[in-house]
Amino acid sequence: RRDSSTMEESNCITNQKTVVAVVGGGLVGSLNACFFAKRGFHVEVFESRGDIRCAKKVKGRSINLALSHRGRQALKHVGIEEKIVSKGIPMHARMIHSLSGKQTPIPYGKKGQYILSIDRANLNKELLTVAEAYPNTKLNFDHKLQDWSPETGQMTFIRADGAKDQIEADLIVGCDGAFSAVRKQFLRRSRFNYSQTYIPDGYMELTMPPVNGEFAMEPNYLHIWPRNAFMMISLPNLDKTFTCTLFMPFENFEKITTGDEVIEFFQEYFPDATPLIGVDALKRDFFCLPAQAMVSVKCSPYHIGDKCVLMGDAAHAVVPFYGQGMNAGFEDCIVFDEIMNEFSEDLGAVLPEYSRVRVPDDQAIADLAMYNYIEMRAHVNSKWFLFRKHVDNF
Ligand code: FAD
Repeated sequence: RRDSSTMEESNCITNQKTVVAVVGGGLVGSLNACFFAKRGFHVEVFESRGDIRCAKKVKGRSINLALSHRGRQALKHVGIEEKIVSKGIPMHARMIHSLSGKQTPIPYGKKGQYILSIDRANLNKELLTVAEAYPNTKLNFDHKLQDWSPETGQMTFIRADGAKDQIEADLIVGCDGAFSAVRKQFLRRSRFNYSQTYIPDGYMELTMPPVNGEFAMEPNYLHIWPRNAFMMISLPNLDKTFTCTLFMPFENFEKITTGDEVIEFFQEYFPDATPLIGVDALKRDFFCLPAQAMVSVKCSPYHIGDKCVLMGDAAHAVVPFYGQGMNAGFEDCIVFDEIMNEFSEDLGAVLPEYSRVRVPDDQAIADLAMYNYIEMRAHVNSKWFLFRKHVDNF
């Protein structure tokens, strides 16, 4: 139901059954739109950015990410697992790079088990296209949620030209990421628990180009350079580059101020990776973008009445060291879908049950991610770690 103060036409969407507004057309929002569309609801996705499928450069939280079992299960539910998996690169093991350049593989599980390196922008584009193919789904780009009312379900969006749209929905699904605008209304309510923690580290992405048209390192691994106080990891891309991500305390990033200091630092701690990334590229790219912050958000409950529910990073942003933020967000969609079946789509019963079931599991992932932050940089060096095998995490 739409009321636009400046729009000439008024698009009426009242002749459908339940109207679901998914706020945020990122990874979780676009997948979630498919789950709701499959049920026959009228789905409207509202995304603050323009359509990334038309953009030359897509801004995001990382260039690539690891898709694992729980994420794949959710994709399977809406019939797009194979489409996405076919564009991923299997990583069967971690490859630990010691200071001397020695490489030691640590398998993720049994033979044949692996996680997949996936291009984030491409995954998001594919999911938007799949969502859009449902006749009962509409994607609204350049719609940034400004505010909404838990009483009426009315939302106010600001469009790219500054015009405002007032839209009502029966159910609002907040998939608008770690700094969720939907969540702001929750913060005004009694008995809503909320905490956020920034870790002292930032991250920076650097590209390792191909060598003679081939990957510069073994492609079917997640490469890790654990250096105790900091670490670098590297995931392969389809264009035969690797995206290297340096995780390090902000205070260390701030100490490196010249190109020569970058090279000195890399040659001391990542001597094998330095020539592969390239001295000139390192000197240039290290200063292209500042290191990015990482936040962990926990909250509960995830719903307000039968009107609104939070999913993905909006409900549980986690630090990236367990490789499970998106995967857990995808799993949110399956769990919600299962509860919808169990309670015959009665939103008044589904939403509280979703919070009851999902909050403890998502908070466990947040804790594991925080723990793996220490384990990956330090313990990954230790014999104890070498004996452990996790199939689903970094
Ligand atoms: P987002 O991806 O943040 O999407 C939110 C969307 O909402 C965006 O499109 C945004 O434009 C839109 N939006 C925001 N505000 C508004 C508004 N007011 N109105 C309308 N739209 C709005 N996870 C993994 O599973 N595996 C990994 O390997 C992995 N690696 C990572 C590496 C790094 C460096 C980082 C930082 C994260 C990583 N993650 C990984 C976590 C993963 O990126 C997130 O969990 C995932 O992006 C969450 O998806 P989301 O859709 O909930 O939120």
